[in-house]
Amino acid sequence: MPQLLEKVAPLFQKYPSPISVATRMAQFVVESGAGQSPLYQKSFNGFGIKASPPWQGPKVQHSSLEDDGKAQPSYFRKYDSLEASIKDHASFFTSTPYRRDVAYKKAIEAGTYQEEAQALTGIYAGDPNYGDKLIQVIELYQLTQYDLAQASAPWQPQIIDRRDQALGGQAYDRPRSAIKTIVWHYTAVPRKYQRKIWDHEQYWKNQKGWDRGGYHYYIDSQGVLYHNYNLERITWGVADHNGDTVHISLEANSKTDYSPEQIKTRDWITRQLMAELAIPASQVKGHWEVNNNTACPGYNQAEMDAFRKALALPPKNPNCKPASSPTVQPDSYLIWQGIKYQLVPVND
Ligand SMILES: [Zn+2]
Repeated sequence: MPQLLEKVAPLFQKYPSPISVATRMAQFVVESGAGQSPLYQKSFNGFGIKASPPWQGPKVQHSSLEDDGKAQPSYFRKYDSLEASIKDHASFFTSTPYRRDVAYKKAIEAGTYQEEAQALTGIYAGDPNYGDKLIQVIELYQLTQYDLAQASAPWQPQIIDRRDQALGGQAYDRPRSAIKTIVWHYTAVPRKYQRKIWDHEQYWKNQKGWDRGGYHYYIDSQGVLYHNYNLERITWGVADHNGDTVHISLEANSKTDYSPEQIKTRDWITRQLMAELAIPASQVKGHWEVNNNTACPGYNQAEMDAFRKALALPPKNPNCKPASSPTVQPDSYLIWQGIKYQLVPVND
């Protein structure tokens, strides 16, 4: 059985479908008895699909077990090969507006194989246990290993655009091409106080007399990103080096005070800026590396070097889940509708 599945998996992967490879492979196993059913043997019909519209191709008569439990002669689609059957099945779910928008809508929108399998129950097959059978097969043979990697939406932080409210507002102080360095900061206030950017602005305005803030981007104690200034705005981030720098600051006061959420958001916005401004990882610096009058942002040389090394590499996919470990031994038989099928390779 594992050899059979290895052999047919590329065919399932070859034809895109709104239904996952794992669920479709399980349907093949269940519907055709892994290629042993009489219908499959005479028609390559691996999924029990009837010769229903819009099918125009050849058909084969075969008795099928209907919902009332009685065997009825019906016409089924006839294919030249297993591949043709897999291809047709892949698009079956969207082959008519009714199938796409009504019958299989739930299965198409399902996020997991369990949801897919249950959404097919009573619709693709009348058997009330159909979904359970599919799930059993998927888990027994670990069919999710054949699912193609989904291009999931890339992670991004919660972003609050407060450019209208930022201290001193926006102005055109420089072209973007003037920007050469991305500078990291902390606010020097412990994260536990949960200060916000407007608290710091009050301090800058009232205690220091500043006409504008220090940071283009600010990450609060929860990891939320605040966009304060356009890149063309020069801000007061680093004494004497503001003309060619863009500033990112986190609500924290030491390198051990940063939360994983804050660091994740900082990594995200740093990479966005590197791409947008064509700035290399080597030009991402800690405040003290640009003007050595402070410990900000709390990292030493080796730690900043390690961050730069990581930023030079593609980001790790935060949505990537580890593969599940084997839990069950494959069986060589499948009990399906009271018939015991020996699972052997199909002759295709
Ligand atoms: Zn700083």
